[in-house]
Amino acid sequence: MATYVIVGGGLAGAKAAQTLREEGFDGEIVLFAAESERPYERPPLSKDYLQGRSEREAVFVHAPEWYADNAVDLRLGMRVTRIEPEHHVVRLGNGSRQPYDKLLIATGATPRRLPGPAAYLRTLADSEAIRERLARAERVVVIGASWIGLETAAAARAAGCEVTVVEPEPTALHRVLGPEVGGVFARLHARNGVDLRFGISAAEVTATGVRLSSGERLTADLVVAGIGATPEVELAREAGLEVGQGVRTDAALRTSHPHVYAAGDVAESFHPLYGRHLRVEHWANALHGGPAAARSMLGQEVVHDLLPYFYTDQYDLGMEFSGHIDGYDEVVWRGDVDGLEFVAYWLRDGRVVAGMNVNVWDAADGIQELIRSGAVVDPKELSSG
Ligand SMILES: Cc1cc2nc3c(=O)[nH]c(=O)nc-3n(C[C@H](O)[C@H](O)[C@H](O)COP(=O)(O)OP(=O)(O)OC[C@H]3O[C@@H](n4cnc5c(N)ncnc54)[C@H](O)[C@@H]3O)c2cc1C
Repeated sequence: MATYVIVGGGLAGAKAAQTLREEGFDGEIVLFAAESERPYERPPLSKDYLQGRSEREAVFVHAPEWYADNAVDLRLGMRVTRIEPEHHVVRLGNGSRQPYDKLLIATGATPRRLPGPAAYLRTLADSEAIRERLARAERVVVIGASWIGLETAAAARAAGCEVTVVEPEPTALHRVLGPEVGGVFARLHARNGVDLRFGISAAEVTATGVRLSSGERLTADLVVAGIGATPEVELAREAGLEVGQGVRTDAALRTSHPHVYAAGDVAESFHPLYGRHLRVEHWANALHGGPAAARSMLGQEVVHDLLPYFYTDQYDLGMEFSGHIDGYDEVVWRGDVDGLEFVAYWLRDGRVVAGMNVNVWDAADGIQELIRSGAVVDPKELSSG
């Protein structure tokens, strides 16, 4: 009987296990999860769950009994410490070994850290600890006007805290969206009472707050840093697999070693549409990448060419973002930008490379079709819809 091992009990790993069973795999599935919680989804951790507006049970990918019912051997609290591809074996911290026929690496990413006592938001335990502190805090400093930073700022405002966001770039989400649409998010937070400090960085985090690069000190009961995440590639690197920005795979999510696959945040996969490798740290990529890797492990022909897709909820703004911005010439708007009901298109060489629909819920498919088509568009037509 074949044994398929999955390293990483996040969304990608859990969905891969599910797909293996749904596709009829009747061998052994062992899922190693370093955390003590069964696999869960992370988006609610900085949104409704952080704000106490959803139930704990709602974050989990599967019900507790699903694993036994589907003969998935879930090993919670077990970290794989070594992969030996030449021996088809993984090793664990306690010295034990687990042989495999095929292996999926779905180890995700971990937050980048600063020296000092800042809090970070990656795990369920992080979210619960921050939620508890928000209930007692008066002043909160968020380092980084990133997605997680901004969602945390919104949760802190909802909890009634005074909130300052510190960001070295000129506006919110500057590197991902550019100044035009980044500015929409900055204005949204300013309107909701957040004190935004752009063009300045945190020089030091202390027990009483943050010292800024200007020398100014911001006192805070809670400092949360959202300054990006690093893919968990060390296992793969030590195993001699090809690693770039993440574990390198082809479009079928096969790594440089036969019988070893990678999916989710940790993978840097060849994307046929872009003609290069891309690492995508979004929920949809884990949701679809895990199953794609599972099908590939089963020998099916797989092309994982999902367009990067992301969503967020902050205050009264809900949005979906599709595509990948790697330089652009202009942003074309359609709808009511100030009223937060619009679509923004990023154009490069006359073609749509990305789009964001804000509080408009029937636009994402059309945006994705435009991106995939590579068609030259008329900005006037685009803006009038
Ligand atoms: C707070 C937060 C909010 C987010 N919000 C959004 C959103 O609104 N929209 C969106 O598109 N995306 C969002 N994301 C991103 C999205 O959650 C990730 O892209 C997704 O979780 C990636 O899933 P994954 O399975 O690849 O990795 P992970 O979820 O990181 O899971 C990997 C798991 O592997 C475990 N692991 C690592 N190394 C080992 C090892 N050696 N042995 C065993 N286990 C190991 C880790 O402990 C972890 O539990 C958010 C992320 C966070 C943190």
